[in-house]
Amino acid sequence: MYSIAIHGGAGTILRSEMSAEMENAYRQALSTALQQGYEILEAGGTSLDAVTRAIVALEDNILFNAGKGSVFTSLGEHEMDASIMNGADGSAGAVAGVKQIRNPVLLAREVMENSQHVFLCSEGAMEFARERGVAIEPDEYFYSPFRFEQWQQLKDSDDYQMDHSAKANSKEQKEKKFGTVGAVACDQYGNLAAGTSTGGMTNKKFGRIGDSPIIGAGTYANNKTCAISCTGHGELFIKAVAAYDVHALMAYKKIGLEEAMREVVLDTLPKIGGEGGMIGVDKFGNAFGIFNSEGMYRGIRSSDGKVDIAIYAD
Ligand code: ASP
Repeated sequence: MYSIAIHGGAGTILRSEMSAEMENAYRQALSTALQQGYEILEAGGTSLDAVTRAIVALEDNILFNAGKGSVFTSLGEHEMDASIMNGADGSAGAVAGVKQIRNPVLLAREVMENSQHVFLCSEGAMEFARERGVAIEPDEYFYSPFRFEQWQQLKDSDDYQMDHSAKANSKEQKEKKFGTVGAVACDQYGNLAAGTSTGGMTNKKFGRIGDSPIIGAGTYANNKTCAISCTGHGELFIKAVAAYDVHALMAYKKIGLEEAMREVVLDTLPKIGGEGGMIGVDKFGNAFGIFNSEGMYRGIRSSDGKVDIAIYAD
């Protein structure tokens, strides 16, 4: 069985705060990205291409905190992080703190395929982007009134916040907002791949890097076990080495993907205050989305006919 799963971030996503119009827009965006990734698998393409395609679609959509819809840093800029990993050969690429890159996941893939390195940051990553002819956009491309407003509420404070919540008027709500997009896939040849892309967190200190570009924390893929992409409070996902931990549980404890994901998301992460979730797929094409927050924008499609787009826990 081949399959693909995507996410558009987890957090305080409450039905009571979502208009029918917004919900529809999110569902439509998820469905388009899922479809674009799935078509590649269906045509016999690789999991790596499917994951890349789905993430590009999400990065190009202003609704999500990645690429075009990226949040503002404490300096009112957009610094983006992304990573990608090929489970077939363990190759990986990542970028952090990049500005003006239209699709950070494509730059991460360039690092993986056309450099001798795994992880490039800031100016060095941007110079590499120019060398490789990766698309660059002016700052205005990344401007969204909604995220500018989110930043205005925080900009003179030391607070930083995650994306995805209707209002930011209580401290509790502020601390429960996650954005970020990701995809994982298993292709017809049983090869796995995972990728994640984010604008990080609103009013984050410039130079702050979360889990999304860190191989093993926000993204991991290994044909022997699983492909994982995370979303949530990055600092805690880094400390938990969350994505790799799912792989390790499967490899050493010999448990299945769903059980391993549940252990990390519903036990290990909550114990250290790590809110958020992840999507995962195993080598048989079984895919899951597990989260410990109120909601997670997500979608799964597999060759057995399953298509599922969901936002809330129920
Ligand atoms: N994990 C991301 C970060 O910490 C945030 C998110 O998932 O929205 O940068």
